[in-house]
Formats: sequence, structure tokens, C-alpha cells
Amino acid sequence: MHPASFLRFIHKMTIRKPSLLLINPWITDFAAYDFWSKPLGLLYLASVLRNAGAHIDFIDCLDRFDEKLQARAQSLPKSGRYGTGKYLRQVIAKPAAFAHVPRYYARYGLPLDLFRSKLHTCQPPDAILVTSGMTYWYPGVQTAIAEARSAFPKAPVFLGGIYATLMPEHAQRTSGADVVIAGEAESAVVPKLQELAPEFELGKQSFACLDDYPAPAWDLYQNLPYGVVMSSRGCPLRCSFCASFNISGAYRWRQPDEVVNDIAQLHEQHAVRDIAFYDDALLTNHIRHLQPIMAKVREAALPVRFHTPNGLQCKHLNRELAREMRATGFTTMRLSLESVSASRQRDMSLKVNTDSFTRAVEAIREANFDIADTDAYVLMALPGQPLQEVLQTMAFVHTNAVGIRLAAYSPIPGTVDYQRAVDAGFDQFSHEPLRTNNSAIPLRAPGLTFDAYNRVALLAKTLNQQLVQTGRPLEQNQQELFARLKSQFTPAELYAVSKISNQKDAAEIEKP
Ligand code: SF4
Repeated sequence: MHPASFLRFIHKMTIRKPSLLLINPWITDFAAYDFWSKPLGLLYLASVLRNAGAHIDFIDCLDRFDEKLQARAQSLPKSGRYGTGKYLRQVIAKPAAFAHVPRYYARYGLPLDLFRSKLHTCQPPDAILVTSGMTYWYPGVQTAIAEARSAFPKAPVFLGGIYATLMPEHAQRTSGADVVIAGEAESAVVPKLQELAPEFELGKQSFACLDDYPAPAWDLYQNLPYGVVMSSRGCPLRCSFCASFNISGAYRWRQPDEVVNDIAQLHEQHAVRDIAFYDDALLTNHIRHLQPIMAKVREAALPVRFHTPNGLQCKHLNRELAREMRATGFTTMRLSLESVSASRQRDMSLKVNTDSFTRAVEAIREANFDIADTDAYVLMALPGQPLQEVLQTMAFVHTNAVGIRLAAYSPIPGTVDYQRAVDAGFDQFSHEPLRTNNSAIPLRAPGLTFDAYNRVALLAKTLNQQLVQTGRPLEQNQQELFARLKSQFTPAELYAVSKISNQKDAAEIEKP
């Protein structure tokens, strides 16, 4: 045989369609709750790889509705509304970085023995692809990679997702993966796989825009009580604490027809009733984007409920839009506020102020959204933020008859506030992502105990319960409620601040 023909023959004998194992790892944290959490990026990747010719096995450690997990029903936590609910958790040893945090640390999701038994039902993979979420959940990523490696020692491991994108060097150094893919992986994954294993026969695909991606591989789930959809990626704004741009890049949106196809597929093929929008900026450009999507959903008479776990930008939410959202099945409305401090709003990006918030709430009320399904993000322990600013924001939100969704601030690598923290001497964040965990209150003010932050959380819970049970705020008068909330704290607690302040003008922050 001619040498060239022989080489072609050998190549033909060795190239083959690869078998791939895709894994969504556990959350490792002090708390976690399933608010419509699905690894959407990994499901897109599964479709891309299938279309390229690969066989896919899939393990989602966070699938609360896994059949084998459900078979252990007696030990499962209860579900909440609209498919949300608590994860099963296993308390694990607290990393040394959290020695000072007086809480249990846990691995949330599938029990380890169930994960191991799932590994053994997979086809031996040619490569393993693992995704990642928050940077400080990396211990869950490490465990998933170590377990998968011990089951399939010859398969190379690829790591992508948010942690891999925001901290690629740390991920490369500590995760145990062979290859770290930072940024969007749909276009990068096939060349990366072939770089490592040229014998893989994978078809080429090119994606010029979001609409070129195949639909997410929802069929990989046995049960799908809720679905998620992303009609756009990124955000046109650059808030000082947010990593949307670093994770998703420039703001782009999909064609309304494509989005509606995804929604229809979830309902018609998987009987999904609850769908969460994963957009960072759902209401941006709503006249040309969300409103045409909603018109098509209504035209198709799809009986679905929509939820908005990411905060909605209040300045876009007018009466007409709120009415249309309600008529289309929008149910859970989560608003972005963060803080009532005008200087902080200016510093963050000017995306919201108290007037635009109040107008958005009036629009929501007129459109008859349920009080129990409407809440607003309030951030706590922001750089240079005293507790009294948090309480002032809570009083403002509650007297507007809106639930308080309290979240502690986490410095996210790549953001303006993260850099400010590092510049101000908090350089431990750049060495150890665990230290950015918001449950550990990374920017805890000197002298403030975890107990003080816990009391704030308890007050928010009490106010929310009052609102859900009676439909009315505890106090109509914002200043009176603010005074009542403040009375629960000492002046030292109210005005203590972390060293970093990003506020140019703190004039409106009340002094003792
Ligand atoms: S508006 Fe929301 S998504 Fe956009 S940058 Fe600000 S916080 Fe991030």
C-alpha cells in the first residue's frame, strides 16, 4: 500500500466518535436553596457536542428531582413554591478559611454514594467536562473531579463555567482539571477536545450569534418540574459589584421566535409549567425584545408561569409592561434596588433610584401581582456600608409592601468593587476565593459580630412574614419603621463600617 494511503487507513481506523461525561458539581456553602437552578451553559454544550457526534452522559449533582434521589423520599427536604426548594445537604468539615464562621458548612445536592453509583452507570468516557458556579464553591468542583478521576483515571478532565472564567489560574492550579476553559465554551469546546485527542471525530460547527446555538439538551433530565430560558446574554450596564460583563461579555439578545420555541419545547415536550428567565437585563430594549416574546407566548396560549430570579431594572418597568407581564404569566417579580443610599446608587451605575423603584412597585400593584411573589434585593455588608443603611433600605422596601430579599455582599473577581477591596488591603481575596463567600461576610465591619448580621436577617424574615400573612406592612410610615429597626442595635453596631468606602458623598448617611 502507498504510504499516504496507509496513513489515511490508520487515521480512519483510529478516529472515532467520543463518549463524554458532563457533570454539574455540588454547591459547598453554609446555605443553598434551589431557586430554579439549572446548568444552562452545560446543557447548551451537551447539544453542541451531540450535534458534533459525541455520545453524552450527564450527572447533575444539584438535580433535586433525580429519580434515585426521589426514591429516598423519606429523607428529602420539602419543596417550596413553583418548583423551588431546599437541597439535600451533608455537613462536611469546614475549610480553615471559615474557622471563624459559627455555622455548619455543607455539601448540597446528591449524596456521595449516589453520585458514585451514577458514575458507574455511565459509558466509560473519553473525556469529562465539568462546569462550575460561584468561585467559593470550588471545593464541590474539586470533589466532583477527584471522584470522576478515580472512576475513570484515563479520561482527561475539562473545567468551564463561572469559577473557571473568573479565576482561571486558581482553577488550573487547584481543581484537578487538565484543561480550564475560561469564557463561553460553545465555540471553544470542540477545538479544545480535538487539541487533546486528535482521534476524536467531531463535526465542525460555527456560531455567529446566540441564535445559532442548538436548544439546551433538556432530555438529559428524567424529571423536569421547572425549566429556565435565557433570551439575552450580558448586560449593557457595569454595576461596580457585578460580574455580568466578565462572565457573559457584551450584551446580546436572541430573536423572539427562537426564545418562544425554547419555551414551547419546555412546555410541550417536558410538561414544564414554571420557567425562570436567566437574563441579567430582561427589561432592556423591552419594546423590541420582551414584548414581542410575550405577544407570541400569549398567541400560542402557553399555560406557563414565568419567574425572574435576577433583579429586574426598575426604570424600565412601567404600567403597560407590568400589565403585559402579568397577562403573559409572569408570577415571581424580583426587583433590583440594593440600597436607598443615593450616593451608592450613583456609584454603582445609576440603574435605580427610590423614585424609579416606587414607580415600578405601583405598576406591579396595578397589574395585580401577588404580594407574596414580589420582592427586592437589599444588599448588606457592602464596601463602607453601615448597618443603618441596610435597615433604612429594609424600611423603605417593606413600607412599599415589597418582600425584602436580603443578600450579603460578595467581592467578585474582576469587578470594580473587588479591585477596590484588594487595593484597600483585602488582598486575601485574590489568594483564596473561599474568603469571598458572602455567608462569611467578607467585608465585615470591625467590631460587628455575626450575631448582628443574623439579627438583621431575622428582622427581614419577620417583616416578610408579616407582609405575606396580612398583605400589609407592619408600619406604613417609613421613618417610624426605620426607628423601630434601629432600636434593635447599639450605635456602635449601626455605624461601624469596613475600611473600604466607595462613596464619594456620604452626606445622606445619617450620623449618630
Ligand atoms: S444591572 Fe444587574 S446585571 Fe447589569 S451590571 Fe448591574 S447588577 Fe449586573
